[in-house]
Amino acid sequence: MGVQQPIRATQDFLSEEHDLIIGGKIVRGSGEPIAVIDPATGDEVARTSSASADDVNRAVAAARQSFEDGRWRGLPADERRRILWRFADLIQENAEKLAHLEVVDNGMPLAFAQWEANSCESWTRHFAGEATRIFGRDASSAMSGGGVDMQSYTIVQPVGVVALVIPWNAPAGTFIIKVAPALAAGNSVVVKPAENTPLSALLLGKLALEAGIPDGVLNVIPGYGPVAGQALADHPDVDKISFTGSTMTGKKIVQSSAGNLKRVTLELGGKSPAIVCDDADIEKSIPQVAMAIFANTGQVCFAGSRLYVHSSVYDQVVEGVAEFAKNLKVGSGFDPDNLLGPLISQAQHEKVLGYLEKGRQAGASVVTGGSRVGDRGFFLEPTIFADISQDMAISREEIFGPVLVATRFDDIDEVVKLANDTRYGLGSGIFTRSVNKAHLIARRIDAGNVWINCYGTVHPSMPFGGFKESGWGREMGSEVMDAFTETKSVFIQLDPEG
Ligand code: NAP
Ligand code: MG
Repeated sequence: MGVQQPIRATQDFLSEEHDLIIGGKIVRGSGEPIAVIDPATGDEVARTSSASADDVNRAVAAARQSFEDGRWRGLPADERRRILWRFADLIQENAEKLAHLEVVDNGMPLAFAQWEANSCESWTRHFAGEATRIFGRDASSAMSGGGVDMQSYTIVQPVGVVALVIPWNAPAGTFIIKVAPALAAGNSVVVKPAENTPLSALLLGKLALEAGIPDGVLNVIPGYGPVAGQALADHPDVDKISFTGSTMTGKKIVQSSAGNLKRVTLELGGKSPAIVCDDADIEKSIPQVAMAIFANTGQVCFAGSRLYVHSSVYDQVVEGVAEFAKNLKVGSGFDPDNLLGPLISQAQHEKVLGYLEKGRQAGASVVTGGSRVGDRGFFLEPTIFADISQDMAISREEIFGPVLVATRFDDIDEVVKLANDTRYGLGSGIFTRSVNKAHLIARRIDAGNVWINCYGTVHPSMPFGGFKESGWGREMGSEVMDAFTETKSVFIQLDPEG
């Protein structure tokens, strides 16, 4: 067994008081405190105060003031870049502390948490650079001639006060994916982390202050969704909300946003297909297909939760993935042998166990797994169902747990139809040695991301987001900078006589 507890620096952080960051100050929230639970044990490891609706008003007012007086958006872009770069330096210095904090708060394996912490650093550096790459364009030549002299150009400006509502499945990563580009564009932000995982956002918020992000530009308010999240979505002085989480909450946010027609981007759920063709490299595909669903215990928005395998290799692939799953060690994220941590909470554990029961009752057969692991913490065996039909709940709904459903197919038209038979459209995987087949299927899949002979690669230079009910807009890439800016067209009639 490896080390079962976090490093000293993380323990010290856990034993601090945890409050809100508003206007550059640490402020006690007046909402009901949040108990932070280690999902590997079910024990409370810390408490944070939480934001009431009044605290939300204070945070939005602080962000508004900082936006209006220009203390951040009015800086030279190069200065914003420098400060964000310093923020990245501090993330790098604190990467191990951050990673250990993620393991305690979320339960994820340490290696995954270390990847996440390192990504936080590199994504922040990437978006620091974007601060100096925000350009308008000029259409003067298209509009001039024949005696008309028109100067026309666009100015690209920050949106204003932006609310960022984040989930618990990769708390630090989703914080940075939103905060770094939003700040690079010159916005002032209010971040609401998930009640299940408020701690990494508070650590990152403190590092941002230390890096020199001016007071009020980055406010971090742990709080409950129906209270703090809802107050942000309703708020008339919030110009934009960027949300990651469930499709159901995403729809609520759309409704609430109508009050002031705030801009909305949504990164929602999925039920993503992984397709293994008859000509795939089977040995290489098996671990990829398995980790497409089992990574982070299935709590990944783009998890490859539906497996489609060509009939000629179906038995071989499903047996291979089942064997791989049986050998996956489940347990504390601090033990390096464990590739699967716990589910996030008792509620999520019960929800996923409920789906296993629904699957059995609907007549699906369990190839492997199907039971909880141990009697402490929220662990579950990686599970594969076969003999499923497309209309079962386990085939249609986002389970957000280590549960895979396997189906066979015989030709490309059939598998494209099956893969697209979902209200979601976030990720998709194609395993084949045929370049032709890979491109043809990629064109026909209704999803924002297609991974060929790999799964789940994300990079800040490539846009990430969903078709259909998987969301609105894109994160990452240059696209996210569009999502955090407004464009203004300026027309100047030039006077040749003037
Ligand atoms: P969720 O409700 O969508 O939570 C995501 C974030 O939204 C959290 O910060 C949450 O706060 C907040 N929120 C909740 N209600 C809100 C409201 N009315 N207005 C504004 N913000 C609100 O997701 P969940 O309840 O944690 O998990 C439920 C299911 O969502 C999971 O089983 C999974 O299927 C899915 N999920 C998907 C993703 C993804 O990346 N696609 C991520 C997380 C969950 P609280 O933390 O206080 O609830
Ligand atoms: Mg927690």
